[in-house]
Amino acid sequence: MLNLSSNIKFIKGVGEKRAEMFYNLGIFDVDSLIHFYPRKYEDWTKTKTVSQAQSGDNVTIRATMITPVKEHMIRRGLTLYKCSFSDGEDVIGVTIFNNKYLAQSLRIYEDYVLFGKIEKTFTTATISSPKIEKLDTGIRIHPIYPAAGKLTSNAIAKVIKTALENLEEIPETLSSDIKEKYDLISLDDAIRKIHFPQSEEDAYKARKRLIFEELLILQLGLFKLKGNKKSETALRIYDDYTAEYESLLPYRLTNAQSRAIRQCIDDMMGAYPMNRLLQGDVGSGKTAVATGLIYTVIKNGYQAALMAPTEILASQHYESISKILRGTGIRTALLTGSVKAKEKRQIKAQLIDGEIDLLIGTHAIIQNDVEFCRLALVITDEQHRFGVKQRANLAQKGTDVHTLVMSATPIPRTLGLILYGDLDISILDELPPGRQEIRTDVVDSRYHSRIYKFVRDAVDRGEQAYIICPLVEESEEVQNIKSAEQLAKELSETAFKGYNLGLLHGKMKAAEKDNVMRAFAGGDIQILVATTVVEVGVDVANATIMVIENAERFGLSQLHQLRGRIGRGNKKSYCILISDSQSENTRNRLLTMKKYSDGFKIADEDLRARGPGDFFGERQHGLPKLKIADMLEDTEILRLAQQCASDILKSDYNLDLPENQGLCKSITAMFRNTQY
Ligand code: ADP
Ligand code: MG
Repeated sequence: MLNLSSNIKFIKGVGEKRAEMFYNLGIFDVDSLIHFYPRKYEDWTKTKTVSQAQSGDNVTIRATMITPVKEHMIRRGLTLYKCSFSDGEDVIGVTIFNNKYLAQSLRIYEDYVLFGKIEKTFTTATISSPKIEKLDTGIRIHPIYPAAGKLTSNAIAKVIKTALENLEEIPETLSSDIKEKYDLISLDDAIRKIHFPQSEEDAYKARKRLIFEELLILQLGLFKLKGNKKSETALRIYDDYTAEYESLLPYRLTNAQSRAIRQCIDDMMGAYPMNRLLQGDVGSGKTAVATGLIYTVIKNGYQAALMAPTEILASQHYESISKILRGTGIRTALLTGSVKAKEKRQIKAQLIDGEIDLLIGTHAIIQNDVEFCRLALVITDEQHRFGVKQRANLAQKGTDVHTLVMSATPIPRTLGLILYGDLDISILDELPPGRQEIRTDVVDSRYHSRIYKFVRDAVDRGEQAYIICPLVEESEEVQNIKSAEQLAKELSETAFKGYNLGLLHGKMKAAEKDNVMRAFAGGDIQILVATTVVEVGVDVANATIMVIENAERFGLSQLHQLRGRIGRGNKKSYCILISDSQSENTRNRLLTMKKYSDGFKIADEDLRARGPGDFFGERQHGLPKLKIADMLEDTEILRLAQQCASDILKSDYNLDLPENQGLCKSITAMFRNTQY
């Protein structure tokens, strides 16, 4: 008998050599073997006769072999094996290519099932290289595994079959209550049926159970990571100061902004801490929402904190928010890595003493020893830089603080549910009025001189421009790709001689970056040559042109974020994507940018172009790899699994109960290889 931890080399028919092939797939023990699921199935159960089959169909035919195999050596490396079968009415010719093993195993007058594409003429019927099995075992649903090298799908199926036949009942991980409530079959049943279903229904039920379990484990792990314990808050808000706040603004809030503020304030007036996500495309005015909440919270006698992913953005928030709040008596401080030690000490002391009402900074402010005296609201301007891990840190900071995460990343719904499953969501689906559509064009580098002239004309009118270069790794072999430094130098001596050029890239010190950005925002720098460091949220309303060099090296979502830096004022703005790529795919990808301005549409296209593998890459979001669930397709099961996860945690937060031990082990296993 085998058990789950038996090494696969103890399975009958698996020798050292074959075991090695499995090891290469990451399969070492029976447990990982039985969780290696089929990619799809071939249903051989619906057999047809030759006369029923249409030419060109993929069919299953029961037939008896009626002529011996004839071998035709066509040339070196190509041997055909031909023989005839009969289904009782018609004769069908079979050609097998090169597969000597299969050809020699066939016996005349025996009954077989043929599976393949049939070709018919008036007088003949043939199948080329069909799959062939004996009649008594062939008529079933065949699992198809992702084959690897010499390890064929068939070979994998055989090994899994043997393993399952020699394996005792697989221990159950879910309680009978859960199985009943969500209509799930047992784990043992599911594993056996996912490999060898007797019907489509079997396969469906098996998938459902296994997807549910995988998403449940993922969700439990994430909930625990986030510390999703809901306890009452002592930091309730009693008065709403939104009307007063609006009177400070030079514009009227959009309906979407007002709605979002109202939703957040309702949350904070309730018994539980707010835990909300504010999603809005670039330029939708998330900062004004954040500032409104900050205003009300501080007017209620509390402190607030706002965190940005970069120092530049933190200082920009500091400036624009200070401007709005000028004259209100609200005391605001900026704390970033480049603040001098002495000033840092002073800010920290003032925070504890309650002399500062609002602290703005990078996320360093939650990690360091910064203490507040009555912090009630933490807002994270996450853009797309904060992953699961930072959110976990944030949650641990204090459970009864109100939190708002602001995100400009249009992410597919399912991923949103997973990453933000514990959050309420507000959406800004409306841009402030007066915004002009940004004109986007895709051109090749022959247009450079024309583009530079276009930029000079705009700058001569008093507008500003960005020129964006891709990041170039030093190790990369680069032809025709200039680093921001090189390009800035070159342009300052040629096309933009006599203009004020600035340079901004990631390797500069924070204080230097800050100075450059400040000079650009103030208009002293007319043209800013930069890498994607500007991608995140910096707001210069006077910048109307963005030229993106080697645009093919950017992802669509990244291009969208970049483009969001212009078109922020009321002047017509232009985004010019330069690419010499000859690939049709790439051109189409770039043309998506011309076609759409809506970030969610672009994200969908991006997802389609790159495939979920990339989009959901571990590096991007810190999520573990999934074996069976598909984050795009399985939204419904995900919802159920989320509900189930929160029920389980409600009754057994630490997963101490005996019936939850299986889940506990699975969580550890799933998250083992993910770094947090
Ligand atoms: P994002 O959602 O990308 O963070 P911001 O908060 O930076 O957007 O806002 C983008 C610009 O729109 C800012 O210049 C801001 O002053 C302006 N803005 C925000 N709300 C409104 C509004 N209701 N009406 C007019 N302009 C607004
Ligand atoms: Mg912003």
